[in-house]
Amino acid sequence: MTPEEFSKYAHARMAKELDILTKKGHDYTQGSKDRYKNFNDLAKELELSSLAVMFIFFKKHLDSIKTFIKHGAVESEDIQDRIADARNYLLLMGAWISERPSKDVVYICKSCKYSTHVDYETCPACRQGTMVVNEST
Ligand SMILES: [Zn+2]
Repeated sequence: MTPEEFSKYAHARMAKELDILTKKGHDYTQGSKDRYKNFNDLAKELELSSLAVMFIFFKKHLDSIKTFIKHGAVESEDIQDRIADARNYLLLMGAWISERPSKDVVYICKSCKYSTHVDYETCPACRQGTMVVNEST
């Protein structure tokens, strides 16, 4: 592939990825204005951060790419689509991180005082306390 061919390929793939992202965005939001609605809902259910949920979905696509490397094929979906999905999850995770307060923010559990840099809704330590920004840091 010449540099010109690669450039053409890259632009075509990025257009396709954006198209997939737009179409799947409707699935992620389930009609809500919150781009991360389904990730946030699942995060709450599983007591994980939304970022961790997105990473799990991302990892699924990496596993497919790994299968392709090992066996030269994947069963359920075209490998190029898997790569596009993986790249879109990276984009979503990057956007999610960019919307969060700086990493210097510390969240603390109102109940057990567990603290973390991750923005959990419910405390991952005691599983009942609400996490709030620790104003004393
Ligand atoms: Zn707690």
